[in-house]
This record gives sequence, C-alpha cells and structure tokens, in this order.
Amino acid sequence: MRDPLRFVKPAVRGMDAYTLSPHPSKVKLNQNENPHELSDSFKRAVVERALARPWGRYPDFFPKDLHVMLADHIGWRSDGVLVGNGSNELIEALLVVTVGQGTRVVIPEPTFTLYGMVTAMLGGEAVRVPLDAELRYDPDALSRARAQSGAAVTIVCSPNNPTGSSLPSGAVERLCEDDSGLVVIDEAYAEFSGWSAVPLLQRYSNLIVLRTLSKAGALAGLRIGYLLASPELVSEVNKARLPYSLNFFSQIAAEEILGDWEAVAERVERIVNERGVLAAALARLSGLRCYASDANFVLVELQDAHPVAVFEALAAEGILVRDVSRYPGLSRHLRISVGTPDQNAALVAALPRALALARVQVGE
Ligand code: PMP
Repeated sequence: MRDPLRFVKPAVRGMDAYTLSPHPSKVKLNQNENPHELSDSFKRAVVERALARPWGRYPDFFPKDLHVMLADHIGWRSDGVLVGNGSNELIEALLVVTVGQGTRVVIPEPTFTLYGMVTAMLGGEAVRVPLDAELRYDPDALSRARAQSGAAVTIVCSPNNPTGSSLPSGAVERLCEDDSGLVVIDEAYAEFSGWSAVPLLQRYSNLIVLRTLSKAGALAGLRIGYLLASPELVSEVNKARLPYSLNFFSQIAAEEILGDWEAVAERVERIVNERGVLAAALARLSGLRCYASDANFVLVELQDAHPVAVFEALAAEGILVRDVSRYPGLSRHLRISVGTPDQNAALVAALPRALALARVQVGE
C-alpha cells in the first residue's frame, strides 16, 4: 500500500504538534495557570447545578444567558459576544473564516505559537514582525508590515505570551485606524495588566478581542474562552465553531464565576503582588535578567547557563518552568509562571543550584 500520509497537507506534515511533555512536579510553573484553586463551596455549587440538569441532553446551541452575563461583565453588547471551548477554539474559528490559500496574517514574534500554526494549516502566510531588542512591541513595524503585505488579519497578544510585554497605549487605535485588515488583540492575560482594548470596540468595527476564563478565572480545566467584536463579525466567526463546543458543565461554571468576580479580582491582585515579589527576588540573583511583565508570568534571560540544562536541573527538584529557548529570539530564555508565595520561594531557592549545575555541564 502506498503511504497514506501523502494525503495529509504538506504544511501539516512539516509542523510539530502543539504539546508539552508531562513531567512529575510538586511546583508547577510552566503553563501560566492560576495557582489559587477555586474553593470547594464554589465547586459544589457548580456540581449541584449540573446534577439538576439532564446529562443526556445537548447543551444550549447558543448559551444566551452566559453571553448576556459576559457582556455585562466586560462592558460590551451581548450580540457581540461569542463563547467557545477555550479561546484556542475561537482563535481557530476566527482564522478559519478569514484565512485561505495565500492569505497574509501579521504575527509578531516571539508570541503564542498557535496563531502561526493555524495560519499555516489553512494555507495562509504568516508575516512575522520581530519585537525590538528589549522584547517590546514595535507598533511602527507592525503598521508597515500590515500595509506592505496587504494582510487580512493582524494578531497581537497583549500582554504577550511569552514575553509579558504589552502594546503601548495608543497602538491599538493606530492599528485599527490603518484600516489594513482586522486587528485581533488576544487578551488572555489582560486581567493582570489593568489595561484592555475592550472600550475601543465601540469605535472600531475591525477590532476583535479574545479573552479567557482560564487564567484570571482559574478555570483552565473547563475550557471557556470568549470573543468580542461587532455582531456582524461574531455571526461569521460563529459559523466555524463546532456545534455545542461549550459543554453544559463549563457553561454553569462560567456563570457561577462571573457571579463571584470579586473573589477572582482579589486572587488576581494577589498574583500581581506576587509577580512583583518574584521579579524582585529574581533580580537579586546573579546570572540572569528578569524582564518586566504585565501578565501572570515572567520571562528570564540566562547569562551563561543553557536554558535546557537549567530547566532539567529544576525539574529534577520537582519544579517545572517553561523552556522557551526554541522560540525565535529567545535562545537563552525561560518563562516562569507566578505561583503561590511558597512555590515562588521554592523556585528562587532552587535557581542558584540549577544555574551552577548547568554551568558545570557547559564547562565539561
Ligand atoms: N492565548 C494565549 C496568549 C495563551 O497563552 C493561551 C493559553 N496558553 C490561550 C490563548 C488559550 O487559552 P484558553 O485556555 O482559553 O484556550
């Protein structure tokens, strides 16, 4: 039999799957998750509501109540909201309805890998715009790339994963006013930054904002994301969402967390404070540089130790961080999610040992 894989698109054959190898760990700082688990009473309330509903029936086709709650929560119209199975699903749906063979998509780099992967799978062409030497966004370069490439879509993650840097103020307006295609701002980490493009939705019909309940909301395991845009754009993106992609359990949990947002805001504040404590402690260590971050993680650059060796030395102590050294421009870098005070302290205590071990390996 001839090779059945010849039927798979070459763009797909040429890429690696988006995955993360599981490592046993006691301190897990590798996926930008919320370290503050939701309370048992919250979870019980969700389970009680789920028990009162028939499990053999499909979820709502379009969870209207949840859309209204999200709209009230964020300050946008409910017909301009689309909820999905994590914001990942909505990134895909958005690109499915906008990208075909040869469509150009402006994507800064380094940034979240999924944008480029989905673009390539759909036959689109990613137009990459490097961050500046300090790993900050370069709005002029973004504008130029959009105009020159005739891009249909520009996707900017702000705050950016994995650098933690945000688009400077005024940059979103400028991008939207260029009128060179749609402007997508992925705000997965916006709650930790205190700034959002959402108010600009009133003014710009080419703006799309992506949000998630995975990070600030501490619901990553239940996969709830939402997209905000004009009602017309939302109707189009909705066509690419699989039917019933949001299961009823997640729908209930989303409604419950929105009703308990004060507790979420309090946990966000704790994480933001801890980010400052962690960054200051990292800055005191020799052999690394910690970048300023607006998100729930920090990026560090290692001066003379290899990130893979440091990652492995930390993993051997049960501490997991993210090795981002294969991202363009980040060959000396690691990304560290902000954990609980105890987890952060364990990391800061282990890092000098890991750096020393990594340096010895280089010297051998
Ligand atoms: N956007 C960015 C920038 C992310 O870092 C992530 C999660 N790693 C996502 C989107 C996806 O989040 P969700 O859990 O909502 O699919």
